[in-house]
Amino acid sequence: METKLIDGKQIARDIRGELKQQIREWRAQGLPAPKLSVILVGEDPASCIYVNNKAKACGWIGMDSETILLPAETTEEELLGRIQTLNEDPSVTGILVQLPLPRGLDESRILRAIDPAKDVDGFHPVNVGKSAIGDDTALVSCTPAGVIQMLERSGIEIRGKRCVVVGRSNIVGKPMARLLLAKDGTVTVCHSKTLDLDQILQEADIVVAAIGRPRFFNGTQFKEGAVIIDVGIHRVEDGVCGDVDFDSCLGKVSYITPVPGGVGPMTIAMLLYNTVRAYQAALSGQE
Ligand code: NDP
Repeated sequence: METKLIDGKQIARDIRGELKQQIREWRAQGLPAPKLSVILVGEDPASCIYVNNKAKACGWIGMDSETILLPAETTEEELLGRIQTLNEDPSVTGILVQLPLPRGLDESRILRAIDPAKDVDGFHPVNVGKSAIGDDTALVSCTPAGVIQMLERSGIEIRGKRCVVVGRSNIVGKPMARLLLAKDGTVTVCHSKTLDLDQILQEADIVVAAIGRPRFFNGTQFKEGAVIIDVGIHRVEDGVCGDVDFDSCLGKVSYITPVPGGVGPMTIAMLLYNTVRAYQAALSGQE
């Protein structure tokens, strides 16, 4: 069987192109560009790279962005104060607090302080709840939302398919399962306590691997013709790999996302997508 690659870089480029066009139209009507405000507390090197990449991606599509750098010693009250100021600033469309936060800051309290209408990471309980009840005004967690875009734009039917999500984190596994269910998939969620994972995988038409273990899965575990979405991303001796051993899947599965170049590029594209949606919602609220 020929295994097709799902090219996340290209799909992310397509999405950015659509968003750029939308922003160009708003600008032509005399409206300001949407603006993403990113707060980074401390100087975690990986977080600095992510934040720079996000700012760069905003620039590509004509979106304004600002990065607010705060020292690692910032108190919770100071951080909450900054968030409140951004919540009240009408020029700010989206607010993102880069995780992880330095020790001593209560992540859950901080994330709940963001106005749900500006919560472009989709982590606020209001957005999680809306997404759970199928309210399409929800801002949805970027990585799983990106996976749905990849499936749909590759012409892969979700309806009626057996979908197995391995991983149940709040930012990937759980929202992934909710989105697949909303698309009429028959969804099973597996995790570290799951018994008979192999047996469950053998029945899956679509597998989303999001467990955070390098090359944990291999081709023999999947059904012939399955679609494999690899969310994992790991720096290893021979480069970067996912949760799935890519080579062992070739010739066995119908579609697979490479790592790098698969789900990774989609996450930032969906952050931009959420910011554009938040802008659109704010605009229609003003009408
Ligand atoms: P977490 O560590 O928060 O969650 C991992 C999940 O996998 C948990 O639910 C855990 O189960 C489950 N798990 C761990 N080991 C096993 C196992 N042996 N069998 C079955 N289930 C297992 O990770 P995240 O969800 O945040 O991220 C998952 C992966 O995706 C990571 O590699 C991360 O780097 C990557 N990632 C990539 C992104 C991208 O843009 N491409 C964005 C976000 C994440 P339990 O709940 O029982 O502990």
